[in-house]
Amino acid sequence: MTKSIHCDRCLKEIRIKGDLVTATMFFQVVPYHEDCYAKDLKGAKTLLLNNQPINGFSGNFLTLLAIAVFIASFFIDDNSMIYLSVLALIAILYRLYSFFIFERHLEK
Ligand SMILES: [Zn+2]
Repeated sequence: MTKSIHCDRCLKEIRIKGDLVTATMFFQVVPYHEDCYAKDLKGAKTLLLNNQPINGFSGNFLTLLAIAVFIASFFIDDNSMIYLSVLALIAILYRLYSFFIFERHLEK
């Protein structure tokens, strides 16, 4: 199953996974070319665009951290853990969304 993914900035197709950066902008997950993401980060959208990509090494690392926090929240009986686990769950859902909507359609 193939679906073409188009960059949010230049509107051209993103063909390879290595060139894809997904990030949240105004609570929406948007796909970018790596270069276009860097340009938009410095541009006018910088206030809306999260400078933490969802995919890639740092995104995966944060997702692992979020999963760990989410699991830990079941064992730690503390009210502050509820907020942390909700934040963690949101991070995990964004990561899954990015994967199913964009990443799985691209070649490595
Ligand atoms: Zn682009």
